Amino acid sequence: MEKMKPASRTTKQKQLVEREIASFHSFFHAEELYQRVSQKNPKIGIATIYRFLNNLAKNGEIHSFLCNRKTLYSNSKKNHCHFICERCGDIKHISLTKVDFLYQQIKEEICHVQIDVTGICKKCS
Ligand SMILES: [Zn+2]
Ligand SMILES: [Zn+2]
Ligand SMILES: [Zn+2]
Repeated sequence: MEKMKPASRTTKQKQLVEREIASFHSFFHAEELYQRVSQKNPKIGIATIYRFLNNLAKNGEIHSFLCNRKTLYSNSKKNHCHFICERCGDIKHISLTKVDFLYQQIKEEICHVQIDVTGICKKCS
């Protein structure tokens, strides 16, 4: 049997970051992840966090959404939908349970869904 090599520094960092990502049960920002990670390993900087997040998103292991001009991440494929008021810019989160119509219309392989609906909110109309 092959002997296990001791985990390299990068591997250990990666494992820590992945563990902390798994502890989120909904959407999170890079900064929130950084706070959790740096409590356990203060040597890991925010740039490293961004690098890990980018790679994981690229590999489809986590999913990224654009929320109020900031990137939000999630470890599930749960959809993320907004109603944005064109007048006041107010953003409401809406939960769509049925996005099946997209899967019928789009013949590509869908990973996760983000929908931005714009209009005029009740306050402004
Ligand atoms: Zn995805
Ligand atoms: Zn959002
Ligand atoms: Zn409005």
